[in-house]
Amino acid sequence: MERDYTVENPKMKLGFGFMRLPLTNPDDDTAIDLKQVEEMADQFFRRGFTYCDTAYMYHDFKSEETVAEAVVDRRERNSFTVATKMPLVMLKNEAEVEEIFNKQLANLHVDYIDYYLMHDMNRSNYEIAKKFHVLEFARKMREQGKIHHLGFSCHDTPEHIDRVLTENPDLEFVQLQINYLDWESQGIQSGACYEVCEKHNKPVIVMEPVKGGTLAKVPAEVEKMMRACHPNWSPASWAIRFAASLPMVKVVLSGMSNMEQLDDNTTYMQDFQPLNQEELDLLKKAARMIDDTIAIACTGCRYCVEENTCPKNIPISRYFALYNTDNLLPGREWTPEKEYYANSIAEGYGRASECIKCRGCERVCPQHLPISDLMDKVKIPMEEQNSMVK
Ligand code: SF4
Ligand code: SF4
Repeated sequence: MERDYTVENPKMKLGFGFMRLPLTNPDDDTAIDLKQVEEMADQFFRRGFTYCDTAYMYHDFKSEETVAEAVVDRRERNSFTVATKMPLVMLKNEAEVEEIFNKQLANLHVDYIDYYLMHDMNRSNYEIAKKFHVLEFARKMREQGKIHHLGFSCHDTPEHIDRVLTENPDLEFVQLQINYLDWESQGIQSGACYEVCEKHNKPVIVMEPVKGGTLAKVPAEVEKMMRACHPNWSPASWAIRFAASLPMVKVVLSGMSNMEQLDDNTTYMQDFQPLNQEELDLLKKAARMIDDTIAIACTGCRYCVEENTCPKNIPISRYFALYNTDNLLPGREWTPEKEYYANSIAEGYGRASECIKCRGCERVCPQHLPISDLMDKVKIPMEEQNSMVK
C-alpha cells in the first residue's frame, strides 16, 4: 500500500511535544495543568496544526492520558495525528510488548496510532527489540490497522541508524535530534544522521530542535546578532526554523510549556518559509559562539533520573541546568541557582560531590555525557563556592 507520510498539510511542520507540559506543582511531573494544556491544544489546532507527540514514559507515565483528555476526547479522530512510542528500555519479557501496546491504546482512548515509534532504538535497545520480537509485533499491528506508520527514534551514531534502516527497510520514518548547535558536533552528529535518512529516503521527525531550551536562551551577543537580522524572531524560532528548513523533515516537535511559547511557534510556523543562505550562515556563526559558552550540553531529557539509575539520588539534569544557567554569568557570590541547589540538598537529594562514579547514568544518557566527570565540575560553584550549602 502506498503510504502517505504527511500530516494534513505538509507545509504545517510543527508538532506539539507532550513532554514538558505546564505543571501545577513544579516538583511533581505528574501534576499536569490540564486546563492550560487544553487551551494550548485548542490554539494549536485553531492554527491548523495536527501532530501530537507523546510517549509511554513522559511525565512519569501521565503524558498519554493527557493527550487523551486534552485532544482525543475533544476532537474528531480524523482531525489530529498522534504519535507514541514503545519503551524498549523497560521491557523485561516478550509478553510485555503486547500488554504495553494495549495499555497505550487505552491510555490514549484510540483504536489506532498514527505514528508508532520504537523509543530510542540505540544499540542496546535494538538488541532488546530483537530479543523480544518487538518489530515483528508492531508490523502485525500495522497489518491490522492499529498502527498506521511505523518508525523509530534514536540517539546514536549515523552508522547505527544506517544499520537499522538497512536491516529494516520497511521502517517508514526516523525521529532524530536535530538542531543547529548539534549539526556538526562530534557528540551528536545531527547532520550525519540526517544524511543517512536522506540516503534511505526516510522522512525525519525532529526532536530537541531547541536543545532542551538551551537555544531559547542564547548568550546576549548571539541574540543581538539574531535581532539585528530579524528584530521579531525569537532565538527559539531561529532554532525551529533551522530544523524545519531541511527538506526531509516532515515535523519539528516542540515541547511547549506555556501559551506564550505555543503562540510564538504557531505564529511563524503557520506560514513557514525555509531559511536562506545568509540566515543559515548566521546560525553557523551562532553555533560557534554558543559552543564557546555552554558548559554542559544536557538536553534535560531526564532519562538518567527517570530510570532510577543513581544510587546516590543525585538529580543530575536539575544540577546541570542550574550549573549552566549559573555559568552564563559566572563569578557572582549569590545566585538563585546556588540557592536552588542548596534547597535540593536540604530536600534530601544527593550532592554532586557524593557521586561514586558508578557510571549507571552514563549508560542511559542519549547525549553520551561524561556525567560522573561533570559532577566534579558542578560541585565547585554549587558546593565549594556556595555558602548556602551546609
Ligand atoms: S555516576 Fe554518579 S551521578 Fe551517575 S549514577 Fe553513579 S553516582 Fe549517580
Ligand atoms: S544528563 Fe543525559 S540523560 Fe540526563 S537529562 Fe541530561 S541529557 Fe538526559
